[in-house]
Amino acid sequence: MKYVFGVDIGGTTVKMGFLTSEGELLEKWEIPTDRSNNGANILSDVAASIDSKITEKGIDKADVIGVGAGVPGPVDSNGIIHSAANLGWGVFNASEEFSRLTGLKAMVGNDANVAALGEMWKGGGVGYKDIVMVTLGTGVGGGIIIDGKILTGALGAGGEIGHIHVRDGEEKACGCGNHGCFEQYCSATGVSNLAKKHFEKYNGTTVLTKEDLSAKAVFDGVKAGDALSKEIAEEFGECLGKGLSVIATIINPEAIVIGGGVSKAGQVIIDYTMPSFKENVFSDCGKLKMLLATLGNDAGMYGAARLVL
Ligand SMILES: [Zn+2]
Repeated sequence: MKYVFGVDIGGTTVKMGFLTSEGELLEKWEIPTDRSNNGANILSDVAASIDSKITEKGIDKADVIGVGAGVPGPVDSNGIIHSAANLGWGVFNASEEFSRLTGLKAMVGNDANVAALGEMWKGGGVGYKDIVMVTLGTGVGGGIIIDGKILTGALGAGGEIGHIHVRDGEEKACGCGNHGCFEQYCSATGVSNLAKKHFEKYNGTTVLTKEDLSAKAVFDGVKAGDALSKEIAEEFGECLGKGLSVIATIINPEAIVIGGGVSKAGQVIIDYTMPSFKENVFSDCGKLKMLLATLGNDAGMYGAARLVL
């Protein structure tokens, strides 16, 4: 039996997974992310945790194929991180450093890209090799997989699809500094902002309350048949469909996989996105499967493991 470790390094915790080379998750655990001293201890903490797991399991280190890691920032195909502000990291070759610390083959990638790889391997995108994944979380992350491989781009910023421009005349700035990115309307924060805007000018009755205008409340409202919630979901779907149509027209993927906290609402997300997607996409590029992610927070761990195989 051969093994692999998949590691998802976040700003607060590091999710660690111990898997077989076939992708069976044998055990997962977490360690805190030590952001002190510009994150200088993070990789060595992870390496120490891997070492003690190898000892605990009584396996031969020679049977460990390697360790993969996803990090929150752009990483190019050589494993060079170009910035990871959440961790305090600057520019360095993380794959090399991680390999030195663990004594194992190591590969590092961008967390959203790696999550896309995980969904392709063991999640919602199983059976496809050309997929686009979009993660609707606090922000909008993305990953593009072409012929089974991550599209990293020159500086590792490939797949930042949440920053596709979908609306002119937006006054508020996106986190990236531009105006009118689809992240501004389709992330959890984005849906909540749309909800506030609609709620303020709505005179009818609604199940929504001023106190809870979260994405979850909105999509629960849609399922309960609430008219205001449906109005908000329509604007959300219009923006998401438009953004996804742009990326689908360029990539012509077999499937788009939608993940992240907002996607927990389920099929309703796809139902509201499809009309605008179909309206804006180039016809042949629109013939794809629109799917929901299934691995949740474990996608990064699976994808990181896959990266090293
Ligand atoms: Zn943006």
